[in-house]
Amino acid sequence: MLRALKRYLTRSADPAQLMLSLDGPAPLRNGDDLLARLRMLGLRRIDRCRLTSNRNVMVSYRGGELRVHEGYLEAPVSVLRAIVVFIEGRTRADRRAARRVIVEHPVGRASRPPRRERTRPEDGRMAAELSRHHAELNARFFAGSLRAIPVRVSRRMKSRLGHYTAATPAEPAEIAISWRHLRRHGWTEALHTLLHEMVHQWQDEQGFAIDHGSSFRAKAREVGITPSARRRPTTGQQTRLEA
Ligand SMILES: [Zn+2]
Repeated sequence: MLRALKRYLTRSADPAQLMLSLDGPAPLRNGDDLLARLRMLGLRRIDRCRLTSNRNVMVSYRGGELRVHEGYLEAPVSVLRAIVVFIEGRTRADRRAARRVIVEHPVGRASRPPRRERTRPEDGRMAAELSRHHAELNARFFAGSLRAIPVRVSRRMKSRLGHYTAATPAEPAEIAISWRHLRRHGWTEALHTLLHEMVHQWQDEQGFAIDHGSSFRAKAREVGITPSARRRPTTGQQTRLEA
């Protein structure tokens, strides 16, 4: 397949490509720059280019419009040529080979944050119940001042009971409660853990560090939970409370 692509590229070598290799390409800044470069490389049937930041779209086209992930602005000319072949290639083999070159180009892969775990569908009722308790505990212990944030059930957590995660640019803050913890120790213990995580949420929203330091201990005493990071659930063996 790659050989087919190489053959195609050699065949389509033109004065524009020669010029590029002599002068070195100028940096591409937007969709228009990219379109101009692709047209120099032989693109004919496209007259509009839209950049996307949607990771599900690397390169796609419809009618005269091309959509390209913004990560391709920095792609080497070999990848840009592959985009041209993907669109203009004469045979299916050429286009398939070009697609491989396109998808192998890393698009911000290094900066991609790990995807957060989601509540399993069968744990949805448990998560909904935890969210209901979050609202109640918020009203009772925090005068309703905490934000309504997602509370999910985690089947991945093995040693931890729960965790509060601060918001990132991509995702909102959330609380996760361990599924095993809930099953093993029951709701009273799980709600104690939820309240513990809500104290971390309170720390975050008040601008304190998220830790088990003095602000944590003071608030934990106020809401009536164990003011330490580790505790022994009243049933079952000792389990580490989230750090
Ligand atoms: Zn904690």
